[in-house]
Amino acid sequence: MKIYYDDDANIELIKNLNVTIVGYGSQGHAHANNLKDSGVNVTVALRNGSSSWDKAIDADLNVMTVEESIPNADLVMMLAPDEFQKGIFEKSIKPNLKKDAILAFAHGFNIHFKKIITEETNSVIMIAPKGPGHTVRSTYKKGGGVPSLIAIYHDSIHGKEYSAKDIALSYAKANGGTRAGVLETSFKEETETDLFGEQAVLCGGMTALIKAGFETLVEAGYSPEMAYFECLHETKLITDLIQEGGIANMHYSISNTAEYGDYLSGPKIITDETKGAMKEILNNIQSGDFANEFLDDCRQSNDGSGGPFMKINRQSTQDHQIEKVGKELRSKMKFLNSEKLVDKEKN
Ligand code: NDP
Ligand code: MG
Repeated sequence: MKIYYDDDANIELIKNLNVTIVGYGSQGHAHANNLKDSGVNVTVALRNGSSSWDKAIDADLNVMTVEESIPNADLVMMLAPDEFQKGIFEKSIKPNLKKDAILAFAHGFNIHFKKIITEETNSVIMIAPKGPGHTVRSTYKKGGGVPSLIAIYHDSIHGKEYSAKDIALSYAKANGGTRAGVLETSFKEETETDLFGEQAVLCGGMTALIKAGFETLVEAGYSPEMAYFECLHETKLITDLIQEGGIANMHYSISNTAEYGDYLSGPKIITDETKGAMKEILNNIQSGDFANEFLDDCRQSNDGSGGPFMKINRQSTQDHQIEKVGKELRSKMKFLNSEKLVDKEKN
């Protein structure tokens, strides 16, 4: 697989375009500031009364409403939450969009599941950093970058010496991505693997495993503090070893006792039945059913703060004993956390 680095991308292409970034949240603030620091002409587009407006002004960025900014935009990067993108696109972008403007995304959800339908004359591309927004910004500031994916859904650039892919690479370079490496994928592959990864392994699978382990120890009479350290705190230490050098590297670092126990008990936890469940999760994503269920839940929220399924589960997570004991223990280990997290936990 070809990996693109700085030398494979021409930053002048994106510098010649007016770039509008819709949203100034996790990804939006990172892309907007990185592109501006790379010399790109950036406008941040928000709704009237947006809570992010003053933050973008304070960062010395150009800020306008979405409707005002779009007529002048050559490239529009959609960095509002996935569940609002269709509404924003139909109401504020589509009626004001240049015929040949390029639409860009950091996740393929709305394009792949055909929630947003674009005109033939507009190119549709993706530049997706594989990391949270605050890392996209902090690594850029240190002279690095976050590995990123690019994908081309539709290239309608004609009669120019560059293609939509060249623009995607140029954007990725301005955002720091080509410093770390950029891989080309498709909207389908990015969307389906991203949703599967977060549901089955990284977020859904991981938190279910942690909670079940914690509950098992506490129900057997062990102290919640011990259970917290064993089942939650140490996950980072182990996943760091796995990320640095693979699974065998982690096995090399842990004791022989732990390694033996890993081989003995891992397959009892993740069984053929678990893999069957993973296949069902993947089918539910591929069919588009997951996307529809998520959007239906969002639609039932009157203030955009999450539907009934989201709210019930958010609350029960907050109420779980592991969160209460964890908050207490983490408050005594401030060195572990970023300043932002400590502030958040104080509030
Ligand atoms: P956030 O929830 O952090 O973005 C919120 C921003 O969108 C705020 O500035 C908010 O402003 C603005 N917004 C909300 N509604 C509107 C609206 N109607 N009109 C204009 N602006 C609006 O989003 P993320 O950064 O998490 O996600 C953005 C995209 O990036 C998604 O496609 C996501 O899948 C993708 N992505 C996210 C990653 C991450 O690290 N979070 C990682 C990789 C991809 P307001 O103050 O008005 O609410
Ligand atoms: Mg992901």
